[in-house]
Amino acid sequence: MANSRYEYVKSFEVEDEVMFPNLVVVRIDGHDFRRRLCVLINTLSYFDDDDDYDDVERNMFSEVHEFVKPNDEIALNLMNSCAASVMEEFPDIVFSYGYSDEYSFVFKKTTKFYQRRASKIQSLFVSFFTSVYVIKWKEFFPRKELRYPPSFRARVICCASIEVLQAYLSWRQNDCHMNNQHATCLHELVKHGKTEREAYEFLKGTGKKEKHDLLFEQFGINYEKLSVMVRQGSCILKTQVEDIVKYNENGAPIKRLRKKASIVHSKNIAGKSFWNEHPKLLK
Ligand code: ATP
Ligand code: ATP
Ligand code: MG
Ligand code: MG
Ligand code: MG
Repeated sequence: MANSRYEYVKSFEVEDEVMFPNLVVVRIDGHDFRRRLCVLINTLSYFDDDDDYDDVERNMFSEVHEFVKPNDEIALNLMNSCAASVMEEFPDIVFSYGYSDEYSFVFKKTTKFYQRRASKIQSLFVSFFTSVYVIKWKEFFPRKELRYPPSFRARVICCASIEVLQAYLSWRQNDCHMNNQHATCLHELVKHGKTEREAYEFLKGTGKKEKHDLLFEQFGINYEKLSVMVRQGSCILKTQVEDIVKYNENGAPIKRLRKKASIVHSKNIAGKSFWNEHPKLLK
């Protein structure tokens, strides 16, 4: 209650304003979305008895919901659609980038959204994204029941300059590439007879080029031919569209400009050409 004798407690709230001119970025990421294979990789030694294994397996979102390996494009489209909803809901977001179970949202430089307070912004974004994910699930997976409530985590990243933001985006896109290349190799090796552990051991220490060659020479897969969304991740930008709101007495349309989120793909989202093509991002 305002002006009560208890109001001094408000001063105990953590101060977390992202100071201007830092750029505010929020990244959300699915909680425990990985499949069993990745759990094995990260915690190989923990799985000595089957009970532990079962316990963990029950909680793997992509496994429980039978995402197609190594990339379920419907699940990626669902993520993209949720991110587009976030962008349409919050006008201060100028750009977003995502792949797998994550999405990064970039605010315009001058945003005053929630006084730039990190905890308010991140909690609002992650809860909105999660609700939209649950609501849209049926639209993307009409024949697949959502078996339990998915959850996401969020964090705020404070970028001191456009250069830092570009480095951040490069880092995420590189991660997309590395993860996808690794997952594609693992999947092929397992499909061709190796156990998951063997496939993982086989790939240990291999670099980008070796993986690229492995896919091409052993499995006849030209990595560059995989879907662009899978290889490069997805960017969402806002474009102006004209909506017809209604017609006047003479039958002439009455139009209104609206910002619409549209998905694009780009090989290098931190590169000069991408940023030159989208100068609005720098404002
Ligand atoms: P954390 O809770 O720490 O985020 P996580 O289990 O969600 O852990 P991530 O590092 O976020 O692990 O990786 C997400 C994993 O989810 C991917 O490695 C992949 O196994 C799985 N995944 C996410 N989206 C898809 C998809 N569209 N198709 C197939 N698998 C997917
Ligand atoms: P903010 O986004 O800053 O939290 P807010 O619009 O949610 O703003 P609050 O101060 O959190 O405002 O107050 C929540 C308001 O929502 C209440 O004042 C009341 O009007 C309405 N509300 C919440 N729960 C109920 C309920 N169970 N029944 C009726 N009204 C409710
Ligand atoms: Mg995750
Ligand atoms: Mg992730
Ligand atoms: Mg409220």
